[in-house]
Amino acid sequence: DDDGVSFEPGPPGQLPDGARGPDLPPMNPSYRYGDPSLPVSRYRRQILYLVENHATTIIVGETGSGKTTQVPQFLLEAGWAESGFCIAVTQPRRVAATSVAARVAEEMGCDLGTTVGYAVRFDNALSAGRTRIKYLTDGVLLREMLDDPLLTSYSVIIVDEAHERSLATDMLLGLMKKIQRRRPDLRLVISSATLEAAKLRDFFDTAGTTPAATSKSAAQRRAGAAGEPPSPSRSPAVITVEGRTHPVQIHYLQSPAPDYVRAAVEAAVAIHCEDLPGDVLIFLTGQDEIQTAVGLLEEHARRLAGSRGYSTKMMPLPLYAGLPGAQQQVVFRPAPRGYRKVVAATNIAETSLTLEGVVYVVDCCFVKQRCYNPLSGLEGLLVAPLSRASAAQRAGRAGRVRAGHCFRMCTEQDFEALPNVTVPEMQRSNLVSMVLQLKALGIDNVMRFEWLAPPPAEALVRALEELHALKALDEDARLTRDVGLALAALPLEPGVGAALLASRALGCSEEMLTLAALMSVQHVWAPAQGAVRALDEAKAKFAAAEGDGVTLLNVHRAWRGAGRSAAWAQRHFLNHHALFRADEAREQLLGLMRRHGLLQPDRPPPSCERDMEPVCRALASGLFMNAAVFDRTEYNPLAPEGDPGTHVYRLVRYTAQRTNPIKLRIHNSSVLWRSTPSCIVYSTVQQADNGWYEMQGVTAVQPAWLIELAPHMFHKPGPA
Ligand code: ADP
Ligand code: MG
Repeated sequence: DDDGVSFEPGPPGQLPDGARGPDLPPMNPSYRYGDPSLPVSRYRRQILYLVENHATTIIVGETGSGKTTQVPQFLLEAGWAESGFCIAVTQPRRVAATSVAARVAEEMGCDLGTTVGYAVRFDNALSAGRTRIKYLTDGVLLREMLDDPLLTSYSVIIVDEAHERSLATDMLLGLMKKIQRRRPDLRLVISSATLEAAKLRDFFDTAGTTPAATSKSAAQRRAGAAGEPPSPSRSPAVITVEGRTHPVQIHYLQSPAPDYVRAAVEAAVAIHCEDLPGDVLIFLTGQDEIQTAVGLLEEHARRLAGSRGYSTKMMPLPLYAGLPGAQQQVVFRPAPRGYRKVVAATNIAETSLTLEGVVYVVDCCFVKQRCYNPLSGLEGLLVAPLSRASAAQRAGRAGRVRAGHCFRMCTEQDFEALPNVTVPEMQRSNLVSMVLQLKALGIDNVMRFEWLAPPPAEALVRALEELHALKALDEDARLTRDVGLALAALPLEPGVGAALLASRALGCSEEMLTLAALMSVQHVWAPAQGAVRALDEAKAKFAAAEGDGVTLLNVHRAWRGAGRSAAWAQRHFLNHHALFRADEAREQLLGLMRRHGLLQPDRPPPSCERDMEPVCRALASGLFMNAAVFDRTEYNPLAPEGDPGTHVYRLVRYTAQRTNPIKLRIHNSSVLWRSTPSCIVYSTVQQADNGWYEMQGVTAVQPAWLIELAPHMFHKPGPA
């Protein structure tokens, strides 16, 4: 009985009794398949055997053992991507999808976008009919299901990084279970860095249920034979891949550090000054911190370059999601002779991406996370304490080359107080997008969906209410044709999508398309280290009294006026790549709108020219759930004379706020930061550590518009 079999790692090629690897077709002589030196290569035959014979295979393995880059190549070589089929590998993060695809294309000796490609929101490198291994974000695969609910173009779906329990991954796993019942030929491979395996195995164990209708299996397709092959076992197989890791010694601070960015930089510099070989990897929470850290490290590098006695120079490098592709690749290259890489990274380096040569890890022990309060309906990003499971992963990154060291920027006592594991994203997110997508996939009763871990009921109810307010759901909680289906078809936040739909009647789709695209690509502004003032001045040149949306449109118009010049963008602290990406996103959105009959195909979208009021109205129609009114200015008695105080806003829809106040203010990245428009809508909030919710993407609106839009919600706007 090999159901639920779990292999102990054995010598290469050793298989349990009766297990034989599949007969391999001749290898394409122009390709190389994989890197045989990686630990996962020793398990190649076992993995192929399990995938052949089990509907679901769970691969648990140390980070860096080759799960992401090698397993798809094994499957390709074994013939799983023949007869037009493709192997999908999902990633929770777009950087991981693009950079791993590039790596695998390089390993196989093909151009990226041919046999190996990627697809992320608004960007892909694929050749229709030719791409065999496709790295894509889990979100993109979910979108593909809208057109092809059974994912019929794929023979194998690899859900990677399942341990991260991202919202989209959890949703995908629930849907995969449904698809498996209808497609016995489809194989699911789940890879996970940690021991979520038991839970996953139980979830996918359907051996006790009635067998599904059989269809052609992959084995049969490959053999081209007639007759029904035996169905794969519906008990999942679990295989543990042992990595090669070296011991990592953990160090703690003697006393807590008031500023972990500085503490981490100092630790990295101290390591560098020990003058032993090995790169340093610093974990921080986000782009801003990373830029600060890299700036500080560069200062140290200059200072140290002047002093003698060190054999290596320090080479500070950033690694985060918004980083342009070329800069990303630099991080992966070995340091030039005489240099030591000191990489400041977000948690993308925790398990998704592996840097070779790291011997020292410096961990700030925090992570930026989504968090959601279903009571207030506020979802924001929050810098939260890391879980110990994640901290262990981060520390492990130091042990790839040889015995390493991990320096945690907290005391041992504080570390012991950290949570064991991270709460799945499903349990701390706004579920509006997810519910919309499930409804669009025909899953009407979202409460009864088979969840890996069910989301909180209040959050689901809240999502249904919000969709109803957007008119995406009718009274019976069914998706509406004109709004609901249209919103589900657009790869946008539902609020932004709703603004785009509203722009048609308001005659400003030309502008809203550009704005929706700009709002979707992050990091339009490129703050340079130590140039905060200059950035503010650059922003002021484009600032519009209407707020950040119209400001972004001004930026885009000026950039177009300057011939889309990179030099111009740089001079104005703008991220040239982001602006280009926005242009591409805009074209795709326009194409989608036309394809779905939401805009006329044969004429340009309506434009409001210079009058920006329709744009603000469109934003109000999409984002009215995020409406806030100015309440009061709070003065800090300890602040110096002339301090402008803090302008406190109140969420309009949250009526209980008088008794349970939410501290809302405009984030200082907004052009409306210092002013106090009486009524605004925002696109996102970020939670600051002192309890404030800070609104970003702010647009001034008129209360009358809100009443017009949603009389049931806003009969009494303004101070009650
Ligand atoms: P796992 O998924 O098990 O964590 P991966 O397949 O991601 O492992 O990585 C296997 C190896 O490939 C690692 O040693 C890593 O250094 C290397 N690698 C992955 N991506 C790149 C890249 N973009 N550039 C260079 N090496 C890479
Ligand atoms: Mg991986």
